[in-house]
Amino acid sequence: MKPAVLSGIALASACVFATTANAQTQRWFRGNTHTHTLNSDGDSPPDSVARWYRDHGYAFLFITDHETLTDPAPLNARYAEPGAFLLIQGQEVTQRVTDSTHADAKRQAHVNSLGARSVVMPQGAKGLATGITMAEGYAKNIAAIRAAGGIAQVNHPNYRWSVRLSDVLALPDSTLFEIANAHTLVNNPGAMGVDGRNVPSTEALWDSLLSRGKVLFAVGDDDAHSFKPQDADDFELTRPGRSWIVVRADTLTAPAILSGIRRGDFYASTGVFLRELSMSAQKVRLSMDRPANDDRRFTTEFVGRNGRVLSTVSGMDAEYVVKGTEGYVRARVTDSNGRHAWTQAVFLRH
Ligand SMILES: [Zn+2]
Ligand SMILES: [Zn+2]
Repeated sequence: MKPAVLSGIALASACVFATTANAQTQRWFRGNTHTHTLNSDGDSPPDSVARWYRDHGYAFLFITDHETLTDPAPLNARYAEPGAFLLIQGQEVTQRVTDSTHADAKRQAHVNSLGARSVVMPQGAKGLATGITMAEGYAKNIAAIRAAGGIAQVNHPNYRWSVRLSDVLALPDSTLFEIANAHTLVNNPGAMGVDGRNVPSTEALWDSLLSRGKVLFAVGDDDAHSFKPQDADDFELTRPGRSWIVVRADTLTAPAILSGIRRGDFYASTGVFLRELSMSAQKVRLSMDRPANDDRRFTTEFVGRNGRVLSTVSGMDAEYVVKGTEGYVRARVTDSNGRHAWTQAVFLRH
């Protein structure tokens, strides 16, 4: 049967990748959606953080201090460059929920708020809520973020082994989902616990959600806290520049970048850059980008329902012709140094 794209958000997220008349005017913009400064628990002032990203190949930056909107306006006055660098307002909502059965007696439900007009405070005294579920915590905070005009991003699901599939089944479509937070203590790959409970990787958790038809967009970001040059060799600290997203937009403005993120027109990366990406209900096609003298090699896996690898392709270009029965199709690129790019998923029905 001929594949069709799901309606609603899925349609928007899938179709935006298809070749369009204005494709020539679209550019890729690399950015980070998760960073801390001295305004919360980072080690450096906002000026140092803004300069670091401006000077290291980033086009946009969300500073996301805990429960604090670090004002981008004065930073933009000093560091923004038209078409080259821009700060956009952000915040981390540091929700925690009591759970006497958990090792910490609480679980973590942090959510980033991107582009919102006003601060969103977590529930409970000092962000520790009692008598609500994790799912209720997410629902209320994400609703508040959206009411303030922002985009919600579920952060580090495996931090303190906090998030289970049942906690995130009711996330609204087009919520961002961190699968590659670069913080050193967030357990992205998952692991078996001594209690015999296997915690899946953040990517596998995303696949479980995609398999249930949830249109969530995978994000990689730094969650950077450490910027001091003298600490650059400390592997225990979370330094910047390790994980990011690359957004397709026609211009570098806050509305254009937020719109691209909201549509899911971006990919996540820990070091692989794409030159081209087109995704439709018929075909997924991408090509890799690398410097001319770079000899790294690329392997692309096309992934469908339940995380099943549908096809593996080697080389600078990769293509997958959709059969229509895959549920969804996404691509994960791995280079010969272990770094990745992850596209979003095209949803199908048959
Ligand atoms: Zn957090
Ligand atoms: Zn954080």
